[in-house]
Amino acid sequence: MSCLFCNIVAGKIPARKVFEDDKVFIFEDVNPQAPTHVLIVPKRHIVDIKNATPEDTEIIGHSHLVAAKIARERGIEDGYRTVYNVGPNSGQSVFHLHLHLLGGRVLRWPPG
Ligand code: 5GP
Ligand code: ZN
Repeated sequence: MSCLFCNIVAGKIPARKVFEDDKVFIFEDVNPQAPTHVLIVPKRHIVDIKNATPEDTEIIGHSHLVAAKIARERGIEDGYRTVYNVGPNSGQSVFHLHLHLLGGRVLRWPPG
């Protein structure tokens, strides 16, 4: 198994876990871009949003709702962002679907 995030989900590579349920594994980004920067990762391997199918609808919705719950718990509801990077021009570097949750500072718009 060569997928980095599958290995993190399986506990074979360590990560700072934030939350886990039957569908998602959530951990701190190793290179945080904001005071809160966590990755919401489906336990099932999905390559990216471009390759997602109607079967993945529930997990995509669930990922956003769990992100909102974490934002509420961390008191960052005055400004946060959920992001899927898609494709080389976005900086996507890991090919296992992951929703970024960024917050805890002023986030400029448009993003760089
Ligand atoms: P992407 O650029 O693909 O949207 O996001 C990949 C993210 O995964 C980056 O923000 C990067 O810092 C993070 N990342 C890459 N490798 C690791 C790792 O081994 N552990 C953790 N916790 N985060 C990682
Ligand atoms: Zn994977």
